[in-house]
Amino acid sequence: MEKCYSCGNSIKTIKDKPYKFDECGINVVLYGITQYTCPTCNESYASIPNLPKLHRIIGTHICTKRKALLQPEEIKFLRKDLHLKAKELALTLGVTASTVSRWENGKKEIGEAHDRLLRSIYMMYASEQAHHIICEGILELFKQLPAKRKKIKQSTEISLNPQEWLNENLTTY
Ligand SMILES: [Zn+2]
Repeated sequence: MEKCYSCGNSIKTIKDKPYKFDECGINVVLYGITQYTCPTCNESYASIPNLPKLHRIIGTHICTKRKALLQPEEIKFLRKDLHLKAKELALTLGVTASTVSRWENGKKEIGEAHDRLLRSIYMMYASEQAHHIICEGILELFKQLPAKRKKIKQSTEISLNPQEWLNENLTTY
């Protein structure tokens, strides 16, 4: 029996309950995650394997599946996964740090050119981290981004099954 890290009493194991991975700042729901709750102090936590790869999958999903202009929380997620401070992302993209802050707090839209540049940089970085090309058909992807992206409404939820980030082979993504 496992113990609560907070109060030391026995904890309950919950399997097969979707886990809301809110701590990443994106609306992600994970399936197949073992969760624990403590009946004594109400503490609850989850065991999430392979966090770096999970982040990469979420980032790649944002870059390849989301057709609308990048949203504030998506920009922040990509920046953090690139391990860049706002100032460093600003230097990377050739804008000012206050521009990056305004994108991230929703006061300014990122715009076509910087949206495409940030997606490109993220996917190159993710490929480098994975030691293989994460996103095939990159030209098609960018060609197919619609022209009037301000009008696009899309679901903000990402649902992931364990095999999507635990398998070594990500080329199907
Ligand atoms: Zn407890």
